[in-house]
Amino acid sequence: QKNEMMLTFDSRSSNESFARVAVAAFTTQLNPTLEEVADIKTAVSEAITNAIIHGYDNQVRKIRIRCQVSERTLYVQVEDDGKGIADVKKAMEPMYTTRPDLDRSGMGFAFMEAFMDQVEVESKVGVGTIVRMKK
Ligand code: ATP
Ligand code: MG
Repeated sequence: QKNEMMLTFDSRSSNESFARVAVAAFTTQLNPTLEEVADIKTAVSEAITNAIIHGYDNQVRKIRIRCQVSERTLYVQVEDDGKGIADVKKAMEPMYTTRPDLDRSGMGFAFMEAFMDQVEVESKVGVGTIVRMKK
């Protein structure tokens, strides 16, 4: 049976651990393994960090998370209304970063893809970014 939750919170890095734990807690209804929980937390953290530092350039706005479980599958979506991504395909390449000055390594999307079964990014410059993941 389908079950859904939504969460809206300020894009402060201090909220990142709370948000990834909330997603992990929601996931327990699927009886995930510890490894699966760790994978989900890592992927969600990466998406949230991206919204904070890239989407909003560290300005405090809202991040939305939508989680759905259906059958044995978790769908999680992280959304911001930030600056958006001009070239999503390029942004998702491993080691591609627009912020080497911040010591970013460009591995966030690569981790999301490694730890989740499916990652899709929908983004519009000046409008925002939605990262949809499935596990
Ligand atoms: P790392 O995640 O290793 O710290 P990174 O954040 O630069 O480095 P990715 O997470 O793979 O690497 O993201 C790649 C690039 O995609 C970013 O440098 C940024 O330009 C862009 N990007 C990612 N998420 C967003 C977002 N929510 N809004 C705007 N741009 C984004
Ligand atoms: Mg990143």
